[in-house]
Amino acid sequence: TNAIDWNAVRADFPLLAREVNGKPLVYLDSANTSQKPAAVIETVDDFFRRHNANVSRAVHTLGSEATEAYEGARRTLAAFLGVRSDELVLCSGTTFAINLVAYSWALPRLKPGDAILLSRMEHHANIVPWQLVAQRTGATIKVAELHQDGTLDLDALHAAMTPEVKLLGITHVSNVLGTINPIAAICREARKRGIVTVVDGSQAAPHMPLDIPSLGCDFYAITGHKMCGPTGTGALWARREHLEAMPPFLGGGEMIKEVRFDGTVFNDPPHRFEAGTPNIAGHIGLGAAVDFLSSLGMQDIAAREHALLTHATEQLLKIDGLRIIGTAPEKAAVISFLVDGAHAHDLATLLDLEGVAVRSGHHCAHPLMQFYGVPATCRASFAFYNTHDEVDAFVAALRKVRRLLG
Ligand code: PMP
Repeated sequence: TNAIDWNAVRADFPLLAREVNGKPLVYLDSANTSQKPAAVIETVDDFFRRHNANVSRAVHTLGSEATEAYEGARRTLAAFLGVRSDELVLCSGTTFAINLVAYSWALPRLKPGDAILLSRMEHHANIVPWQLVAQRTGATIKVAELHQDGTLDLDALHAAMTPEVKLLGITHVSNVLGTINPIAAICREARKRGIVTVVDGSQAAPHMPLDIPSLGCDFYAITGHKMCGPTGTGALWARREHLEAMPPFLGGGEMIKEVRFDGTVFNDPPHRFEAGTPNIAGHIGLGAAVDFLSSLGMQDIAAREHALLTHATEQLLKIDGLRIIGTAPEKAAVISFLVDGAHAHDLATLLDLEGVAVRSGHHCAHPLMQFYGVPATCRASFAFYNTHDEVDAFVAALRKVRRLLG
């Protein structure tokens, strides 16, 4: 990654220049939400200053500029993910995307006796929608367990793919453990057994090169705010045949061809699933975020973050009484940790006084906390705009906080 001047890249993020509690900010919560480069902020600003209009409705100049920019963002995102833009539903993020699959694909299809298979490491966004659907259809939920290092027990997962299983919900990358799951191999096994796969790509899309078709999944969900885009943006990719077969989730404007009181003709996908006025500025901003990430290259971003992960892991393991939860060999730059005798929230609060932002809590993954028998962890998550010096500042702050806590 010699070619990229990462300090210059970092300087593109205005917020990273600020101080917190009189200390230079060390932002290690990018798995929660990423910071935004000036290009994204300026794109959103420029939209509202110069182009603001609704999409797909008005024939006037601003209306067509807004529509062109919004549809351009869809094409940019589709190219980034390696998919067709008419297979990409824009929506508010992963939570919406998974609920769309749950209500439009699963709810009309599942019956009593069917099962939905989930992994132990899923985010609540890939658990609760399935529970709601299970309650309404009489289907049951099955869980695929983990090894202690935070990798999936693949033998158990494949053994759990029994004939009653109709759908597998699986995360590409764990937001707590950082584990990168072998999605292509898992989807191959599922496909052999006729199981439809829903992949939560929230923590993968921001951090690695993606080519969704090569994964062999049926559905893939992403959220824009973790990939340098605005909040309230994201997408669901689905195979065209699924989208064609799915009834709408929400009804309203934009998603119809013709409305009569005796029956409505729905629009074609993806518009069928985009009722109402969308987050136009947000998605145009997401398009700018994707251009920004692409200009760096996802391979170089992944290498940069891997170097930060390695450095941070080595430094943290030198701290007595510190335990890392999630030690998979294939890991994204996420480190969940516990320190003997210290509550995760106390650690995070005291680290904040040192200017270091880490998340503490259950990370929307209660079943995973139950697996490790802990109520909460501290989590430091890194992005390419972090530096080795910040890792060192974080480790020094953690040593100081440890002393304070006795
Ligand atoms: N899945 C995973 C793995 C996540 O990390 C997150 C965000 N914390 C989500 C789903 C939900 O994303 P959003 O709230 O943006 O819909």
